[in-house]
Amino acid sequence: MRIVHATSELHPFSKTGGLADMVGALCGALARAGHTVDVVTPLYRGIRARHPQMRRVDWRFDVPLGSGLEHGEFWRLDPEPGLTLWFVDQPGFFDRAGIYNERNVDYPDNAARFAFFAKAVVLLARHLPSPPQLLHCHDWQTGLVPLLARHAQVAGGWTRAPRTLMTVHNLAYQGWFPATAFGLANIPPDWFHPDSAEGHGQLNFLKAGLNLADALTTVSPRYSREICTEEFGCGLDSLLRRREYELTGILNGVDYAEWNTTGNPALKHAYDAGHLAGKAAGKADLQKELGLPVRADVPLFANITRLTDQKGADLLHEALGTLLSEGTVLQFALLGSGDPLLEAAYRSLAALHPGQVAARIGFDPGLAQRLEAGADFYVMPSRFEPCGLNQLYSLRYGTVPVVRATGGLDDSVVDIRESPERATGIKFHDASAAALAHGIRKALALAAAPTLLAHYRHNGMTADFSWEKQAKEYVELYEHVLDGV
Ligand code: ADP
Repeated sequence: MRIVHATSELHPFSKTGGLADMVGALCGALARAGHTVDVVTPLYRGIRARHPQMRRVDWRFDVPLGSGLEHGEFWRLDPEPGLTLWFVDQPGFFDRAGIYNERNVDYPDNAARFAFFAKAVVLLARHLPSPPQLLHCHDWQTGLVPLLARHAQVAGGWTRAPRTLMTVHNLAYQGWFPATAFGLANIPPDWFHPDSAEGHGQLNFLKAGLNLADALTTVSPRYSREICTEEFGCGLDSLLRRREYELTGILNGVDYAEWNTTGNPALKHAYDAGHLAGKAAGKADLQKELGLPVRADVPLFANITRLTDQKGADLLHEALGTLLSEGTVLQFALLGSGDPLLEAAYRSLAALHPGQVAARIGFDPGLAQRLEAGADFYVMPSRFEPCGLNQLYSLRYGTVPVVRATGGLDDSVVDIRESPERATGIKFHDASAAALAHGIRKALALAAAPTLLAHYRHNGMTADFSWEKQAKEYVELYEHVLDGV
């Protein structure tokens, strides 16, 4: 199959979250499975300097953008057979310090930046020497692509237009702009209506994609069901219910080349399911590094996160406060950044319980690896979670996840009540500090039952969430979408 992917983030070139990892890994897996994959992404500041092998393509273009004309160019990289990366160069839009914002303030011209990007994607897809069969778009930044492609097909004579797919990585981010920004699409105003890009009189990029793409996906089966409900639908649930039969949930995979307990340069002590001595050594090193007492017998819990409401960081803070004030014997380490109030709250908790809590505020991929390896339990109390990656890493690292049963967390962790034989973690249901504290107490009981703990660990460490496996589900979906032509 010939597939073009459009994304505003791509690991290892640009990243703010799981989107970058997912597109990078999926496209690699598709290419290795024999498909022809082209990925289009913006050329942000610094990418060219870090990847000098990139070549400028003799392909300059001008596209109308509202009342003006914008110029762009493509740069290209061919990292492996079957995979071509196209970087859209427009320094005025993309040569900036941030990807979407600076100091937490969104760029005021994000509508223009990503409308321009969408036009570059459609242009490239239309003029590639071998026309793609599928155009797969990710998140609101590419939401206009299916709309522009449909318009080009209906009114612009694009007879060999590909089928389009829209993947939602997080429905909470939709790309809302004033209605006047629809002019940036250079499409007749009668295309602006609620079955297209209009929502409550405003322009909604993601809504355009969800209305006009031929097929929709999201990053776990349970989240695909949740977003069809009012509670999780972020105002788009009726649209999603209408298209329920064209919406598929496919769990993200893990890049085991990067996230593994053996042959990993980020970890001093290797270990695997049959040899856990390295995990115990990693725990001792980690306790030392964090300034916690080196105690093999005290269960160590970890959390690596954006400090936001979504991730339930407030619930975790409250639950820990309760457990520690009751004299519960445990250690906890946090690595995260985000909401300044939550950052301060975790710092205070660590100051109050220095022998039990360590809080590292910041972004530190090396420490993230050491925490995954050295901790006994990983806590993830998300209010909603489209997929979640850290619980998947935790399973491979023998770090038993304690998760709220939502979205991808529910799909990837098995509680003993679901299957004693296949149990890999502990689930709780209410989004409350009390329910989470109850989950943590269950984890402490599990830590006191070494044979059962070993059973959980073994199940988790041998589970397969590889991209090779998950990519097959995308291929099946692609075949299904093409069958419908
Ligand atoms: P989301 O994309 O919603 O933030 P995911 O669990 O899907 O959450 O992915 C987050 C990724 O970012 C994981 O790989 C996680 O380890 C990493 N991460 C989050 N916060 C930090 C941090 N402070 N330091 C290092 N890595 C982090």
